This record gives sequence, structure tokens and C-alpha cells, in this order.
Amino acid sequence: PSRQEVSYFGAGPAPLPTSVVEAGGKAFVNYNDCGLGLGEISHRSPTANKILADAKANLSTLLDIPDNYEILFMQAGGSGEFSAVVHNLVSVWIERRRRRAEADILKANPGAEKEQVDEQVFQRLQKEVDEELKLDYLVTGSWSLKASQEAARLVGSKYVNVALDARKANNGKFGKIPAEDTWSLTPTKREGGKGSAFVYFCDNETVDGVEFQTFPKSLEAQGQDEEDERLVIADMSSNFISRKVDVSKYAVIFGGAQKNIGVTGITIAIVRKDLLPPQTATPPPALLHRLNIGGLPGPVVLDYATIAKNNSLYNTLPIFNLWIAGQVMADLVSELGAQKVSGQEEIANKKAQLIYGSLDKYPQIYQVVPDKSIRSRMNICFRVNGGDETKEKEFIAGAEKRLLQGLKGHRSVGGMRASNYNAVPLENVQKLVAYLEEFANGQ
Ligand code: PLP
Repeated sequence: PSRQEVSYFGAGPAPLPTSVVEAGGKAFVNYNDCGLGLGEISHRSPTANKILADAKANLSTLLDIPDNYEILFMQAGGSGEFSAVVHNLVSVWIERRRRRAEADILKANPGAEKEQVDEQVFQRLQKEVDEELKLDYLVTGSWSLKASQEAARLVGSKYVNVALDARKANNGKFGKIPAEDTWSLTPTKREGGKGSAFVYFCDNETVDGVEFQTFPKSLEAQGQDEEDERLVIADMSSNFISRKVDVSKYAVIFGGAQKNIGVTGITIAIVRKDLLPPQTATPPPALLHRLNIGGLPGPVVLDYATIAKNNSLYNTLPIFNLWIAGQVMADLVSELGAQKVSGQEEIANKKAQLIYGSLDKYPQIYQVVPDKSIRSRMNICFRVNGGDETKEKEFIAGAEKRLLQGLKGHRSVGGMRASNYNAVPLENVQKLVAYLEEFANGQ
């Protein structure tokens, strides 16, 4: 079949706008008639630099990214960021405390020798790590679960506080987000505690079809001072640039490109600048080795400070992949104009409502998996006839016949999943809806 005939609802990699794919052919062979393709030019060439600068500028425009944030292009996927956030934010936690410890010790004993101070700092930090280091995770689906497991693997489960395991309130399955007053976040200073290194959540759970509808109230800023704030990390891999986001509420936002903005190989991290040097320097490696916290110091290619200092060109960045993401963003900027990402949000909502509307019309035939209050606009997970194997096979076979592809749910949960990312045209959603109706009426 031709590209135009296929409606693809895969969860990632996902469809790209046809205009970008078509321009990509030329860009891969002979970019701007320079005689070379983008897979061949140097990542340090002026051409690559312009692609990088344009991508940053367009992303800033789309998400209204404040000046005190750095945009980093990285390469280890969403999974790489599961590790990166731990390496980086635990380092920030250590460095902030190292500075406080050093200041306190020097205040008490202004003439102390450096070696003596360092030893006392070490003693104090060792105790603080042991007693106070906590990484808070809200586990609302398979990806935040994986992220929390990676944190436990890197630093040890003792330091990981699963502040919410959404399965517990839902018969062992993901699909609901319990009320915030049931979460057990590490208390901040004003709440009588010592706070955590960060609070992590996944904004949209791709496998389970669960999306936070709004920013959680209990993660709102608790105070300006570093001892009293919650540093919030969000994985937006599967709802990136699909709705308005108040970036200023986050310490780090990250997402792989392969769902809403490009192809695999580029991961975007938006990081608050005061978590990078010079405001927060990386703690001395010797101290980290001595403190012996697994995962620290981390691989240099996951080190935000290093990537920021090198304008995302510490090592070879895949420029062709970056160009694709940049092109998608540039097109969004020119299509949406002043509406920025709110325009995209409207489109995404409209498409999701069409699909959910049709599923809800036939409750005997289709059952949406997650609770109504947290349904994802991006990954629409449903069962056919309560998960009846024959019926689900029949549904998929009928869909394939109509060239509606990629509708099978994730292998870990089964069922159906229609992914409704930015590049899925309304027309394809309408084709899916027509099939949903036809299938239901034929039962
Ligand atoms: N986070 C979310 C929400 C995802 O959907 C995925 C992949 O599908 C990942 C992280 C992992 O991304 P990657 O495969 O790029 O490591």
C-alpha cells in the first residue's frame, strides 16, 4: 500500500508528517544541494549548528521555555534518562549539602585546614546520605515503574521512596491515580522533614493509557529556598508538545523524540539552569567515590553539565535525526503561529474525544482500560468484548484489512491501543472511528 492508504496508530516509533518524511529523502541524499546528506556531514559544521540552534529556538517557542532552562539533545532514549536523572539530581543533592556542610564547618572553625574540613564534610555527608537521601517516585504505570527500578538499581532500593504505587488501589493493575492525600511524598522542610532529592512522575503512561490531567497540586513549589523545594522530574516521552506545559514547575522534563516529534536517536532534556554549574557544580568525583553511592559519578554522556557546556555536542550527535525533530517543530511553529502548543492541544483533544466517544457508545463491545478521570489523549487503551481472545483477533484482522495498523496493545498488557500522537491525521482517526462503529454494529 501507499503511505496515504495506511493509517498507523503505533505507540512508538510513530508516524511522522508526510511532508517531513518526503523532505527527509532529499535531506538524506543531498541536503540543501550541498552535495552531501545529513547523515554524512560533521556535527560541528555550520550546517549542523544551524539545525541545532533552530531546533532549540522552535522548541522554546512551542513550549514557552523560560530563559533559565537549558535544552539538551541527548541520545540514550527515555530509558537513558531514567538513569540520567538519578546520576544528575543525586549529584545536585550531594553538592548542595556539601556546600552547606562546608560553610557550617568553616563558620565554626574559620582557620581549619582544607584536609580537616574535607574530612568533616565527608563524615557529615556520609551520615546524611545514610539517613536522609530519598528519591520520590509516583508509580502510575509501566514506565514510571521501570524508572523507579532503575533508580533502585543505581543507588539502592533503600533510597527510593515509592510515594505512590497506583496498582495498590486498583486490584494490582495500573489504570487509576488515587487522590493526592494518599501519596506518601517525603516531607519537605516546612512539612517537618528533610525533603527528597526529587519527585519523579511519568506524565503519560504509554503502555497503560494513563495521563496526568493536570500538574499534581502537592508538587507545586513549596518555597523558594533550596532546602524546601520539590525538584520535579517528568517523563513526557509520549505526550511531548501535545499540550501546554508550565515549564517553570519542573526541574527536568525529558522525552524521546520517536513518538510526537521525530525518529529514535534523539532525546530531549529540558533542565533548569541552576541545577548545572556554576550555580550547582558537580561534586568532586573523589568525594562521590568515597561516599560510595552506586551510580555516582555517572557516565559522562549522561551528565547534564557536560552536555550543556558543550551545546549538546560533547560527542557525535545524529544530525539527521535532529533535523527531523527540528523540522517537525518548525512546521508546528509555522502552522500554529501565536497559538503555539495550545493549538496542538486542541487538535489532540478533538481526536481523542472522537475515539473515546465511539468506544463509549458501545460499552458491551468496547471497554476502555483506565479510569475515565485519567484517560490518556495519546494512548487509547481498550479491550474488545472484555478481552475475549477470538473477538480481539477478529477486531485486529478487520482493522488490518482496512489498513488501520499498529492497534495491538503492548505485549505486557494485551488488548488494543490506538496511539493518537501529533502526526496522526484527523482523517485517519475518522477512519478508525468508522471501523469502530462498523465492527460494533456487526456484532
Ligand atoms: N518513557 C515512556 C513514557 C515511554 O513510552 C518509553 C518508550 O516507549 C520510554 C520512556 C522509554 O523510551 P526509550 O525506548 O527511548 O528508551
